Amino acid sequence: MDRMITKPRLATAWLGGCSGCHMSFLDLDERLIELAGRVEFCATPFTDYKDFPEADITLVEGAVANEEHLEQIRKIRQRTKILVSLGDCAVTGNVTALRNMYGVEEVLDRAYRETAAVVTGIPSGNIVIPRLLARVRPVHEVVTVDYFIPGCPPSADVIHSYVMALLDGREPAFEGRFG
Ligand code: SF4
Repeated sequence: MDRMITKPRLATAWLGGCSGCHMSFLDLDERLIELAGRVEFCATPFTDYKDFPEADITLVEGAVANEEHLEQIRKIRQRTKILVSLGDCAVTGNVTALRNMYGVEEVLDRAYRETAAVVTGIPSGNIVIPRLLARVRPVHEVVTVDYFIPGCPPSADVIHSYVMALLDGREPAFEGRFG
């Protein structure tokens, strides 16, 4: 009798981060091919999906900085069995949270008036940007996180050992350097 074997579904998501953690994930190089044999990549920042899918494991880069991130991470949590904070911005707020010492208005002024090459002012009217939260928050302050991978960014070796452990049903343990 034919038995359908379904692979675990692995997703990655990108909130308020610089993409460095995803670059480190891509540094898995040929190990990505090994990984592709073991999982179905169901969502990544490069995947054209309309709605975040159900996932067995989701690695989330970046902190929760605006209302769009808030909505995104709540949906991801609802649809993910094992949620992993990937990198220091997701784990602690890190670089993204540096703006927490200033008010939102001050940050917007700095970005759109004081340091803008062409000053057009803070986007309004037809130009919509996601509303910034008063405070940037690490992911676990907003939703329950199952595992944390610190590092800025975490090295490809650490990411690999974590993901493989989760796929093997083992408790992840750090191997190699953090970042
Ligand atoms: Fe970028 Fe470092 Fe933040 Fe990762 S942890 S998103 S590499 S600043």
